[in-house]
Amino acid sequence: MKTITVNASKTYDVIIGNDLLPISGKVIRAVTKASKAVIISDSNVYPLYGNTVLESVKANGFQDVFSFVFSAGEESKNGNNYLAILEFLAERHITRSDCLIALGGGVVGDITGFVAATYLRGIDYVQIPTTVLAAVDSSVGGKTAIDLSAGKNLVGAFYQPNAVICDLNTFTSLPTDVFRDGCAEIIKYGILYDQSLFDHLTEHGIDFDREAVIARCVELKRDVVACDEFDRGQRQKLNLGHTIGHGIEASSNFSISHGSAVAIGMAIISRAAAKLGMCSQETKDSIIASIQLFGLPVTTTETAKTLYTYALSDKKREGSTVNLIIPQRIGLCAICPTPTDEIKTLIQAGL
Ligand code: NAD
Repeated sequence: MKTITVNASKTYDVIIGNDLLPISGKVIRAVTKASKAVIISDSNVYPLYGNTVLESVKANGFQDVFSFVFSAGEESKNGNNYLAILEFLAERHITRSDCLIALGGGVVGDITGFVAATYLRGIDYVQIPTTVLAAVDSSVGGKTAIDLSAGKNLVGAFYQPNAVICDLNTFTSLPTDVFRDGCAEIIKYGILYDQSLFDHLTEHGIDFDREAVIARCVELKRDVVACDEFDRGQRQKLNLGHTIGHGIEASSNFSISHGSAVAIGMAIISRAAAKLGMCSQETKDSIIASIQLFGLPVTTTETAKTLYTYALSDKKREGSTVNLIIPQRIGLCAICPTPTDEIKTLIQAGL
């Protein structure tokens, strides 16, 4: 088991290991004075793990424990579901001193975090991530959100959890494609910050050391959040592959998953960087080989024009430039403010 402490506007531990769900109640008891707890989860995850968490929380001195379960999928990360959760809490007289528990992937974590940030102007919550993506990315760092019809994550808040409990056993029930999706984010950390993490992934592929790799990614995210909690500078590097990836995701009407789209986005930006002399051919080749090793895609049928149009609506756009994250070598990437009229050329170079 590994414990990593995050120092942001709230200080909290991320605990990573096997068999943690049965002791989750004890961990939660130690980080909140709540007398009531509400587990929020989705229709895939709750039947698998809800009861274990419920029993553990009940056994640790909570007066009442409720569960709110919604349909699995990104479609549930919306305003209607957000309001339904708020009404559920109010009807059960959940007070500001009570606590929410997000049990699930990034969708559950994001909407629960946003409810926690806004219900009674903020109550305690704990993240129990059950996907690789949620473990290494969304559960740590306090970004919470719901989607609007106009786009993903357009409403949200920065609101840190009281603890993150990552039970690696939950990954055993993940569908293969969901598991691989999360691996795109792990590869991203290697390209951004850590040659030896990248080498471990290249050597072991999908059989990577679960505890060591998840913990390393969380350490890297902890460092980013500690220096830029509110995403004004260095945290933007976590956007590697995302500006183009979001365009691929959206133009496919979300039939291409987030992880696959990010993988393609990282491949495109690497090919462009190599062509334009910003990184070596060798760096580009090793990035693409590692993505393929995980069974993730590296090409798209979308045109540069389509991807350019989506890139212009990137949340990281600042006036007439978009901050693109460009790999220079494995473990080192740069934030490059790129004039919008150069972006199409760059995408074209990477296709
Ligand atoms: P998800 O939460 O939709 O989970 C993917 C699927 O796996 C769902 O069907 C879910 O029910 C199922 N599932 C989850 N855990 C399971 C398990 N252990 N066993 C079996 N099935 C399981 O998707 P995700 O990929 O975890 O997260 C994507 C979301 O995260 C997006 O909404 C994205 O915007 C958000 N996100 C947020 C941040 C952040 O910093 N807040 C960062 C990255 C992504």
